[in-house]
Amino acid sequence: MTVFLTQIQAGISEDVSIIKNMEYSEFSKDPTFLSKLADINGDGKITAIDLANLVLSQHPLIDGHNDLPWTMRQLASNDLRKFDLSKDLTVVEPWASASTSHTDIPRLRKGKVGGVFWIAYVDCHTSEKDAVTQTIEQIDVINRFVKKYSDDFQFATTSEDIIDAISKGKIASLIGVEGGHSIQSSPGVLRILYQLGARYMTLTHSCNTPWSDASPVDHKIIPATANGLSEFGLKIVDEMNRLGMIVDVTHTSEKTSRDALKRSKAPVIFSHSQTKNICDHHRNVPDDILHMLKENGGIIMVNFCEGFLNCNKSRKATIKDVIDHLEYIRSVIGSDYIGIGADYNGVPEVAIGLEDTSKYPDLFAALIERGWTHEELAKLSNLNIIRVLQKVEQVLTHLSSKWEGYYTLALLYSLEHSTLVNCQCQAKFSFLLVFVFINLPKPEVEYVCVMKEVSRETKGKIFATVVIAMIAGISVLFGILLFELPWSSSVKAEPHTNQTEIKDQNITSLEKAFRILKEYPVVDGHNDFAYNMRKLLQNQLSKLNFSSNLKEVEPWASYNESYTDIPTLRQGHVGGVFWVVFTPCESQGKDSVIQTIEQIDLIHRLVDQNPNDLLLATNSEDLSTAKTQGKIASFIGIEGGHSISSSPAIVRMMYKLGVRYLTLTHQCNTPWADASLVDNKEDPLPSTNNGLSEFGEELIYEMNRIGMMVDLSHVSEEVMRTALKISKAPVIFSHSGAKSVCNHHRNVPDGILKLLQLNGGIIMVNFYPGFVNCNKSRTATLQDVADHLDHIRKLIGAKYVGLGTDYNGVPEMPQGLEDVSKFPYLFAELIDRGWNQTELSQLSFLNIQEVMQVKVELAADSSSRAMEKVLPATELKSKKRE
Ligand SMILES: [Zn+2]
Ligand SMILES: [Zn+2]
Repeated sequence: MTVFLTQIQAGISEDVSIIKNMEYSEFSKDPTFLSKLADINGDGKITAIDLANLVLSQHPLIDGHNDLPWTMRQLASNDLRKFDLSKDLTVVEPWASASTSHTDIPRLRKGKVGGVFWIAYVDCHTSEKDAVTQTIEQIDVINRFVKKYSDDFQFATTSEDIIDAISKGKIASLIGVEGGHSIQSSPGVLRILYQLGARYMTLTHSCNTPWSDASPVDHKIIPATANGLSEFGLKIVDEMNRLGMIVDVTHTSEKTSRDALKRSKAPVIFSHSQTKNICDHHRNVPDDILHMLKENGGIIMVNFCEGFLNCNKSRKATIKDVIDHLEYIRSVIGSDYIGIGADYNGVPEVAIGLEDTSKYPDLFAALIERGWTHEELAKLSNLNIIRVLQKVEQVLTHLSSKWEGYYTLALLYSLEHSTLVNCQCQAKFSFLLVFVFINLPKPEVEYVCVMKEVSRETKGKIFATVVIAMIAGISVLFGILLFELPWSSSVKAEPHTNQTEIKDQNITSLEKAFRILKEYPVVDGHNDFAYNMRKLLQNQLSKLNFSSNLKEVEPWASYNESYTDIPTLRQGHVGGVFWVVFTPCESQGKDSVIQTIEQIDLIHRLVDQNPNDLLLATNSEDLSTAKTQGKIASFIGIEGGHSISSSPAIVRMMYKLGVRYLTLTHQCNTPWADASLVDNKEDPLPSTNNGLSEFGEELIYEMNRIGMMVDLSHVSEEVMRTALKISKAPVIFSHSGAKSVCNHHRNVPDGILKLLQLNGGIIMVNFYPGFVNCNKSRTATLQDVADHLDHIRKLIGAKYVGLGTDYNGVPEMPQGLEDVSKFPYLFAELIDRGWNQTELSQLSFLNIQEVMQVKVELAADSSSRAMEKVLPATELKSKKRE
């Protein structure tokens, strides 16, 4: 039965002229729809605006592009104390007079908004400079304001999250990154941005990247650099597909759009664009690309920016122009492929009639007048973008198990210059020590790249046979029962541990050490393997087999810092490692943040690549879980305050990525903290901060607040004292020694060790010979390390000590501690020196666990206010161009 709206509403209001000729069945298939219709705008009549409000109540609008975070940066330096988003900002300066201030919570609510892609945009001028830092700062500010106004906003990263937020009456808050320059051509950065919540990236802004051309190329305003998408650009699209990040081709050249649409396995979007047919601007989309978009299943979200809506410069663009673009797209490809990406806060002038984020119902009312149906409006409002996101998520599931290009993509640029060919993971079975002694040829089993090709069983058999023979031979010759069994995980280097009948007094110290370490494996506070990966393999994990004995594999074999691999860690009874993110001081003020991110990405990938041996760990509980599962808890620490580019936002986001300590300096001062070289007697580095600046102090409070450990290795004594005085949580020295034992500026004086005891932190003793033994006439040994441990134990007790070896971070190691398999020998030495079982378990495992759990994690209070201060050095000047 056909029911006319006019008839139904006659009793409510006479003035329904707008919808008088529309058939109800054409507008909505929901039989209860009209019963819900009410005079929402309160003008005494039921009009199209009431109808629009009702549609939007059912399908709250998701705007694909809002630049509020950029306005926050420009007007308030991202300081949330400077404004109240829950107030009407049209009457608050400087917002009231700003041409790009279109958004606040009251207006979003009036506009019936159910979701927003908040844009982490940074200007093209940052391209070769601090684009990554600024992008992360923008993601941080989005995180902060979403959290601060959690009555209204809810963070969302999936289609399910959006539906959940809308069902709770919240505004789903997603993140989009506008401009490929934000990743500085680094797939590692792309992956990390995804991890931080970014769910689309626009391939360019108004500038080309080295791998993609921007739209001004089409009007020859700038020359092409990649002729669309370069090979690298296509791989970026692949990687975004694999991650589940939407590819956004707004702002790109036509060729780039076409290349992306051809390549992408998932739907692509235009997050804020219009049609070229109506206004021939390079920012707008031609018909053939619209057809490709339909084919691809993506959507074009229409922009309200005055400049692109109407090419007739004699008049201003209005809401009618927006409708023209929408209707044109609908006529060409249908209503399944459109959305709204208004660009509020990103442009100074928007269409008349759509002045701010409260106006979406006006647009919907106008569309109702033009005869758009309920279903079409629902798709335009949110169903289409939710569908796209769902599809993108499905492609993720489909690809993640299949695509092999994942690991080789890292640092593609440097790959071109790399002399390393393909995958040559040549590994050898060898029993180096044994064969050196008895001078036999080394038995070798060579295989290429895939360890699995030699089955574990076969391997075990070869092993067992050779091992038994060797044990016999060696035992007879030297009467030694203990020797290295490189990379055998099935044959444990634990003599007699299963022969429990042996009485305690007969057990050697080494055997006792093995017993203790079995219960309390070593947690090493400082291992630089990740930096070696960067130096030797340009972070290409496809060229690493971490389960092989790296001392037998090039390029590691010829490299004198090759101390770490999984078999050796297993032999050393290592239960936890802080994998260190290190970038040299030379990167300070340059690309330290990018390099830091790439190293974090590498550690994440390393753990992914070795799921049977490594477990990504971020808290004390993970340490216990790893122990239970027989895995190595893999923590992340950042070495050197220069890595955060004096930005508290970077510290917060690094925390989000799993980083659990930050060493305040490396060998260079930062703008807020002095390095230990300041205390170097021979050739002191000039102090730049007199210790720790006020900013540095605030940063310590911020680290306390979020639960990141403050690491005082490498800092000056003055910084140590201040930090120990002010830190609300225990601090650590991740890799330092005692100055009383070796008077080096990298070591810690007794007075400060006593302060550490009061603070409740720990000093994790470093193995580096240069700091361990100050007597240059002889070689450093295991005993020297034991001397440091002994001294600290005597001075402040075994409760405040740990191990932070610096393996893979230094060119040599003391005799007896040549690689990560040697911990048991150190423990045996300590047993001989009178350390008891409790003390040793504290040293290896319990102290760091307690510092993290009882102290740092509990001291954290993320509900309190974040540090807002930024150093003036942070560039806030650049302006957005459109
Ligand atoms: Zn160091
Ligand atoms: Zn834009």
